[in-house]
Amino acid sequence: MMFLGIVYFLVAFGTAVPTTQRDAKVSYDGYKVYKVAAHGDAADLISELDALSIIDLSHSHAGSENGATFNIAVPPDNVAAFEALNLSAEILSGDLGADIAAEGSFGEYSSTLRANSGDLPSLTWFDSYHAYEDHIQYWADLQAAFPDNSELIEAGTSFEGRPLQGIHLWGSSGKDSKPAIFFNGNVHAREWITSKVVEYITYQLIVGYENDTLVQSVLDSYDFYILPVVNPDGFVYTQTTDRLWRKNRQIRTNTTAIGTDINRNWAVGFGGGGSSSDPSSGTFSGYAPGDAPETAGLIVLAQELAGRHGIKLYVDWHSYAQVILLSYGYTCDAFPANLEAQLALAAGAAAAIAGPYNTTFDYGPGCVVLYQSSGNGRDYMTDAAGAEYGWGIELRDTRYGFVLPPEQILPSGEEIWEGMRYIWANL
Ligand SMILES: [Zn+2]
Repeated sequence: MMFLGIVYFLVAFGTAVPTTQRDAKVSYDGYKVYKVAAHGDAADLISELDALSIIDLSHSHAGSENGATFNIAVPPDNVAAFEALNLSAEILSGDLGADIAAEGSFGEYSSTLRANSGDLPSLTWFDSYHAYEDHIQYWADLQAAFPDNSELIEAGTSFEGRPLQGIHLWGSSGKDSKPAIFFNGNVHAREWITSKVVEYITYQLIVGYENDTLVQSVLDSYDFYILPVVNPDGFVYTQTTDRLWRKNRQIRTNTTAIGTDINRNWAVGFGGGGSSSDPSSGTFSGYAPGDAPETAGLIVLAQELAGRHGIKLYVDWHSYAQVILLSYGYTCDAFPANLEAQLALAAGAAAAIAGPYNTTFDYGPGCVVLYQSSGNGRDYMTDAAGAEYGWGIELRDTRYGFVLPPEQILPSGEEIWEGMRYIWANL
């Protein structure tokens, strides 16, 4: 996409690392966001619009029930030209830059704000977004509040050398004694709500183990492996430089393009439809399965868990679409053997999610309900790591997209926690 060219141009003069300190901050002031009806194949129309330097924010499957639609951001200089095309388009945002500003400044966080060392941090964590370093401290503080039933874990390191960190929680049988529930957030850098919701689930698991029999039961039955940010380089880059960055920050030889889409870099279906072999694409798969260091680290963890007691449930957390994605994403023509059980669990979870705020979540095999995506994590977990439920969940919302106002962090966590409770009761 054209806008990426600006970034590449700037980094071409830098050395390999750290590019995050060198790039000018990307401004989205005056960008308008539209929801466009494609009346045909969305991908074709999006590529026609490339001349207008549009940013493809999301698109639905060409065969989806309501017809294909997609959301794009149009730079201020090209708004008039876009509107002259007279497409069926609805304005979602009159100024994307203003939306980004409205996300507010990051909240302060310090362990010293806890009443006592070993207390859980307060729920004010979910009132705003936070710097990456604060997330690391927050995970350590969660772990410290649950010392006998948790440990901090790492699953390899990112391209720029940051460890992929997380928390492992267990119940009364001790660690590594039960099948795994494996969650990871922020595979895609700009999807900030995902790490917050994954942290909210972790928080509620720890709180609930005190006196909530459902939580006690699930923690006594499964080992939880929770990694809220598995694309730390990209996440940091969205905080310092480009709020809408998606991929990791991997540099390759023979191209100035940066970044691999970690969620197209897995072995199952690698290189198929809905992924790109072009390093400048937002869905660049890499050149070989697992050649992004972040994917490689997650593969090692997944295979460890598969070999130990198996993976019961994997959820790769994304935004935004409000849909529970089952396998498969790489094909619309094949389905997991236990599809009926998966659909029943997803239907119950979606109904529970709607409880607190009437937020509607769709569900079904990813290729069918959203779009084809080859080389994604959930298909890998299903076919190559034996996960009984290999899922992706796309969180809120349908208006603000990636730039979800901080007032929606807690409600998003609350409704998803209701969905998780349904799952805990019905796994
Ligand atoms: Zn995503």
